Amino acid sequence: MKAAVLYSTVPAPTPGAGPGKRTYSDAGPLLVQELDQPEPRAGELGVAITYSSLCHSDLSVVDGSRVRPLPMALGHEAVGRVVSLGEGVEDVSVGDHVVLVFVPSCGKCRACLSGRPALCHRAAEVNGSGDLLHGPALLRTPAGERINHHLGVSAFADYAVVARESVVVIDDDVPDTVAAMFGCAVLTGMGAVLNTAGVSPGQSVAVFGLGAVGLSAVMAARLAGAASVIAVDPNQGKHQLARDAGATSVGTPEDAARLIAEASGDGVDVAIEAVGSAAVIASCLEQVTRGGAVVSVGLPHPSAQLTVPALQFAGAGKRLLGSYMGDAVPSRDIPKYLGFWREGRLPVELLHTDTRPLGEINEGLDALASGQVVRRLFQA
Ligand code: NAD
Ligand code: ZN
Repeated sequence: MKAAVLYSTVPAPTPGAGPGKRTYSDAGPLLVQELDQPEPRAGELGVAITYSSLCHSDLSVVDGSRVRPLPMALGHEAVGRVVSLGEGVEDVSVGDHVVLVFVPSCGKCRACLSGRPALCHRAAEVNGSGDLLHGPALLRTPAGERINHHLGVSAFADYAVVARESVVVIDDDVPDTVAAMFGCAVLTGMGAVLNTAGVSPGQSVAVFGLGAVGLSAVMAARLAGAASVIAVDPNQGKHQLARDAGATSVGTPEDAARLIAEASGDGVDVAIEAVGSAAVIASCLEQVTRGGAVVSVGLPHPSAQLTVPALQFAGAGKRLLGSYMGDAVPSRDIPKYLGFWREGRLPVELLHTDTRPLGEINEGLDALASGQVVRRLFQA
């Protein structure tokens, strides 16, 4: 099998840093290499990956802002077909069309039992250590070196061995280029609005950050019947996409306060932070009305601290809610969101910028970091 492996992190290239500053394509942090192809153990299955797509969270592992054990085979948003079944896997068949999900929920821990499988304790543990839900990492180089799994998926590859709990079976006829983005971007952005915030008809919603996660949140806000959806990103290249996704007004961070005042007076009911910046979370808290909610979806650097006026919580009833994987129940929400897509209510095609061979994955890191692409798909 073939996979893209990260051996050491590369700091994010700073725009305009002058000569000598390397791009990801120069530095080549991901090495596409041959690995021994593991067979699934009990509770696992083998998947032939059709398309994987590059998410900002992969980039954050590459630049060191999401700390993971290395070497690691990256990629966590993908679609494929089941090619082999481990012992005891009876509710999935060879040939099934599957979306990969990045939290393999155990079904038994406190979070799972309280109906919040996205926060599964066991999954957090194995995802953090680069192992799989049903046993230690299986990926090996031909020389026998252990390669860690990324979020139980490792999808920048032509094949993946994953826990049964890491796949959701979908209908055969969903195009792979659409399905590929449901496991992370769509599940996360939609879930932030529908599950975490519980946006109701007539509310006003602002979305900060118009990558695939934020644009999915824009689509969800419209779908939930929000009266106004204000979309904010300094990259004006994302603005038309936000309009196409259903935003009622669009602008840069400098425009945000004015657009919000025009749309909803003293602030929005819900602000979604899909950037990964503590400063943006703080400004979202200023932009919500009394009783409003900020949903923190972006993943800031672990050292980032948030300092905000403490009184606004009790004094103005504001809430700050974290949302991991959209607080989703993937086997419930992926088919539900695919249903919205079938009805023409979820234009996820607009998230897919282009498709490249896996060998160009490092160029993909530059394209995502510079905001040239929303979702670039890769084919091994
Ligand atoms: P992306 O890089 O495609 O998009 C981020 C966008 O934010 C870019 O368009 C950028 O121009 C914009 N931005 C930068 N500064 C901004 C500012 N001050 N105000 C408004 N917009 C600004 O990223 P993505 O793949 O859509 O992911 C977004 C974030 O969500 C990342 O932090 C990612 O790690 C995180 N994420 C979280 C989860 C989760 O489960 N919570 C899942 C997936 C991704
Ligand atoms: Zn992701």
